[in-house]
Amino acid sequence: METARSEKAPDEKVICLFPGCEKEAVEPKHKDNAPTRQGPPPRYCEDENHNAASAYHELKRLEKEGAAS
Ligand SMILES: [Zn+2]
Repeated sequence: METARSEKAPDEKVICLFPGCEKEAVEPKHKDNAPTRQGPPPRYCEDENHNAASAYHELKRLEKEGAAS
């Protein structure tokens, strides 16, 4: 029997958005930067190579790979 998985649970851990990465997203480390913890939730894991820019490039790379035949 297949169990239906809910698509989005509100309290689910956030997983890194980097393609292929399945680590849990963590808040970026700021040193003496933000006393108040407000702002967007973390979207990438602790790997400093995983960020919006690198994820974008990786997606582009994967797209090219997928498109190339
Ligand atoms: Zn990651």
